[in-house]
Amino acid sequence: MTYLKEIERAIKKANRVKNKAIADELKKYKKEYKLKIKKLQSLIDAQPPGGPRKLNALFRQIEKEMLALSNKLSTSAQVLIRKSTRQAVLDVQASIRATGGRLKGNYTAGMSPAVFERVWKAAMDKVIRGVDGVTLSERIWEIHEGTYKTLRKMIADGYAEGLYPGEIQRNLRAFLYLPDVDMRKTYWKEYFKKYPPGRGVYRSAYKNTERVLRTEVTRAYRESTAEYAKAKAWVKGIKWHRTAGAEECDECDEYERSDMYGLGEGVYPPDGVPVSHPNCFCYLTIEPIEDALEFPE
Ligand SMILES: [Zn+2]
Repeated sequence: MTYLKEIERAIKKANRVKNKAIADELKKYKKEYKLKIKKLQSLIDAQPPGGPRKLNALFRQIEKEMLALSNKLSTSAQVLIRKSTRQAVLDVQASIRATGGRLKGNYTAGMSPAVFERVWKAAMDKVIRGVDGVTLSERIWEIHEGTYKTLRKMIADGYAEGLYPGEIQRNLRAFLYLPDVDMRKTYWKEYFKKYPPGRGVYRSAYKNTERVLRTEVTRAYRESTAEYAKAKAWVKGIKWHRTAGAEECDECDEYERSDMYGLGEGVYPPDGVPVSHPNCFCYLTIEPIEDALEFPE
């Protein structure tokens, strides 16, 4: 197996670990959404027949609940980003080590504890701060604030139209979580025409949060690889890879193929890694400079 193939194999293994971490995190979110739906439904149950006398009092309670949910998820997401960036630097190091010490004399895979801390924290800061100045927690609140606003309209309309509390509760659940909604059914088609879910193609708050989480954790891995590369004199650049079968990444073909810096196909300097689309599953590997290897291929 060639040097670069070995690196790639190790990174792919790390990728599977990353996907497991995302799946575990999402399990927590699912639980939180379900609890919150129950809580909001109980608020509807507590209203007098025919609807609340003061809608605003109900709305304030709902907003408080949505804010608490958002804060909880966003704290949890930040912990995961912290773990992921740290883990990603370890994974990159391990992938280089797995190649059997073929780096020349002064070139090493590892780094001092101080440099290690600096490297993963730099990556974490970048992800939490956000590319466009919108922080991770703002991004998550945006979803829940948008959901809250639409919930408010949905509930007000529901009472005005004389819906049963059970119907309002069902709508509320769909808007937050969409458990087993069949989108082909006219009811839900009409429903979402009336209450558009806001930015993004997904239909529920949970789905939108899931998308943000996947996007940011994957980015955390890429940023960590880039920060690692910056700390290493023997790195030529980082190479972009598409995950086989990820349809979302059609546009990333371009990143994988283009040679914008004359470093090779899909190879970028650590500061020039493309920022891609939401739900991008691409990953990076390290490309050493030509004379970095003791036994070049
Ligand atoms: Zn991609």
